[in-house]
Formats: sequence, C-alpha cells, structure tokens
Amino acid sequence: MKMKIIILIAFIILILIAVWLLNVFTFKRIQILSRTPDIPEAATIQYTPPPRPKFSIPSRQQLGNVMAMMKKTIEKVTDGVYIANNYAFGNVIMIETSSGLVIVDTTENAKSARKILSEFRKITDKPIKTIIYTHGHVDHIFGTPVFMEDRPQIISTRTTVEFLKREQGWMNPYLKLSRRIQSGRADEAYAMKMPIDIGFEGFEGETLIWPTITFDGFYSFKQDDTLFELYETGGEAPGHLIIWIPQKKLVVSGDLFYPSFPNLSTPMLAARSPEDWIKGLEKIISLNPEYLAPCHALSLSGAEEILTRLGNYRNATKYVFDETIKAINQGKTVEEAVSDIRLPENFTRLPYLKEYYGRVDWAVRGIYHRYTGWYDGRGTNLNPLPSGHLPREIIKLSGGVDKILAYAIEAQKRGEHQLAVELADIVIKAHPDEKIARVIKSYSLDYLGYGAQNLNMFGFYRSAAAMERKKADYKP
Ligand SMILES: [Zn+2]
Repeated sequence: MKMKIIILIAFIILILIAVWLLNVFTFKRIQILSRTPDIPEAATIQYTPPPRPKFSIPSRQQLGNVMAMMKKTIEKVTDGVYIANNYAFGNVIMIETSSGLVIVDTTENAKSARKILSEFRKITDKPIKTIIYTHGHVDHIFGTPVFMEDRPQIISTRTTVEFLKREQGWMNPYLKLSRRIQSGRADEAYAMKMPIDIGFEGFEGETLIWPTITFDGFYSFKQDDTLFELYETGGEAPGHLIIWIPQKKLVVSGDLFYPSFPNLSTPMLAARSPEDWIKGLEKIISLNPEYLAPCHALSLSGAEEILTRLGNYRNATKYVFDETIKAINQGKTVEEAVSDIRLPENFTRLPYLKEYYGRVDWAVRGIYHRYTGWYDGRGTNLNPLPSGHLPREIIKLSGGVDKILAYAIEAQKRGEHQLAVELADIVIKAHPDEKIARVIKSYSLDYLGYGAQNLNMFGFYRSAAAMERKKADYKP
C-alpha cells in the first residue's frame, strides 16, 4: 500500500516536471528573439515580446454597447415596419403594404438573410414585391438571393449601379484586400486571438443581384396604397438614397445616421463627400419624421428626439468640414490640421457622436484627400528619396541597427508604441529581412489596436501586426 502511494506521488511529480520543462521549452522557442550585433564587440539584442495586450473596455456604457451589438433583434418600429438588427453587420428593414412587402437592404450574406427571412415569416407570409438598395456597400446587398422567390423589382439609384460595376468589377481585388485589413482579418494565422467574436458570417463569395429599376435624383412609387419617395443623397456612398413614407411619417435613413461620429473617410478607400452627407441629413430633418429606421442600429421615434439627434449629427459633421476647409485655405498641412481640429465638448459628450466607428482625425485627412492634391507645397515630398535611402543614413548616423532596435524596445517597454513602431520601421525600410524589427513592431501595433476605442482602428492594427509577423514568419 505504502509503496503504491510513493509510486503514485513520484509519477505525479514526474508529470509536473515534464509539463514545466515543456512550458519552459515552448516559452523560449516562441518568445525570445536575438540578433547578432553588426559590430562584434556590441551586445547581442535579446527581445522578449511583452505579454499579450488586454482588450480594454473602459466604461459600463461601452460594455453595454458591445453587448447590445451581439443581441439579435426584430424590432417593430411602427405598424407594418420591422427592423432585423444584429443578425449581420447590416440591417434588413421590412415594410408591409396591404398585399405585399418591401425589403430595404439585404445584409452581407445569404446565411444571415435566411435567418432574418424566417423571422419575418413569423410575422407575415405576404409576397416580397420590392427590394430597395439604400447604397452599394457589401453589407447591404449580398443577402438578396434569399428574398427573390416572388421575383420582386429591385430599385437603386443609377449611381449605385455605376458604383457596383466599379466595386464588384475592376476594383474588386483591392476592395477585398482593404476589407480584410480593415476588419482585422488579414493574415489571420499570424494575428492575436480575437478578444470577442460577434459571430457574423462575413461576405466572401456572395452573389450580387443587379437592380431592375434605377433613377437619378428622385423616384416615387406606390405599392398598394402606400407611397414611397426615394431621394438620392450620396454621403456614405455615391448614389446613397433615403426613403420617405409620408403615410407612416417614417424615414429609412440608410447609413447617414448611426450611433458614432460618421465615418466620413474610410482610410483605405476613396474619401466620402461630407457635403452630400450634410445635405442628406438636412433633407431628413426637413421631412420632419416621426420615425427613423437606420440601416445599422435600432430605430428612433418622436419628431423632437429625431430632430435633436440629427441636428447635432449634422452640426458636428458640418463643424469638422468647415474647420478643415478653413485649414486648407489657410495653407496648413494635413498634419497641422489634424493636430488643431477638435470636436467641441457639446458634441463629444453625446453618446452617438463618440468616435467608435468614424474618427474626427480621419475625417480631416479624408477631406484633405478629397479636396486637395498629394503635394503639400513644402518641397520635401515633391520628389523624395527612394524608400530605404534615408533610413539607411539614419542607421549609420545613430550607430547601427542594434542601437535603433534597442531604443525601439525601450520605447515599447515605456508604452510609447507609436514611437516603437516608427523606430522599427526605420530598420524595416532599410533592411526588409530584419525579422526582429518586424516582430517588435507587430507587438506595438497590437498594443495600439487593443488600446483603440474605434472598431476600424482595432481592425487595422490587428491586421498590420499579423502582416508583419507573417513576413517575419513568427506566430504569436
Ligand atoms: Zn452600411
């Protein structure tokens, strides 16, 4: 008996030692990187990556927002109007008329659209007679095949069709790439694990169904006794439209309003028109709606509430636009404008103007990009040195790659991640094969991403980190 216990204890100790050894071994194999110095007597650089960054959700309100983002809801807006929210990235809106249905937008994939349709079928079995695309972004159009059984007409602006020909045609490879990067999914095998998975299906390989009726500016139609007025506004996308149903005092606002500072400029895409966006918001305000059905959030109701929110939204957008144009006309560089322009406090404290999706600094950059050229008039960027030339000189001046990397590692330890990234980039540009520089950079990028309060920013940093690690053939 005694012997058995001793053997058992010895066995357990052996296992514990084995696990410990395995841990130490994998830890060393994965974690520590070193670099043989350029100058023989200099110290070898040893880089131990920092612990994985933690995803910070600082306030209860933001936690509430994240939780709300994951809750699938069929919302009744008013009689005969329903929003399917959070089944996918985009909403589907269903509007009942006496003998049929109008479907506004169809989400980014058939799988989510099918779930939505089966929920809608619990409410009504009327045939779908009309589909309307508010605009041509993928999260609004790719679920369409699911709603085609009754052969509905499909309405969009003519500009949306032009937009789709470009985006789904000759610009498509780049668009797919930029989407992967923005959503944080580039080179996924080398990325940090996602902190939360909101469980959306994505949109690769979906089928586009083209509109059958297109128009410029304004279009109206009656389905049974319900009048639909479609106004082309632009803004979120060229050819974007809003829908006004006078009998219901309802506006479908497309993507002109969602609970974040508007995404006036998506960093990797052509800059959007703030002028159109502002005019679109003014159009909605002028209709004095009692109900507002947006394409990425739940509805708003009450004329006064809608007026207040959209008024603030319009004024904040106009403020950033006007200040940026002022800076352009004063001859400021984009960097000067970015550091000068801040949204006034009366806007920043509003929950629906927080920079969760769009950002003020990105809006400023987008407006510069849209209304001016690439040259800033300062001489330096007119005909710059080839990439790598200046970094090589800087490395020479500073005493070698090791010096710069050691400095980058120190910056990273202090939490100065942007500095660490830029220092590592000097080495990467001069010597693209320096894996350690890419790994150092990747961890600071992850820290920047996990510290961001903006969904797109998180995605951009996560992707950039993964792309650097892939080039270094290093998995986190
Ligand atoms: Zn959208």
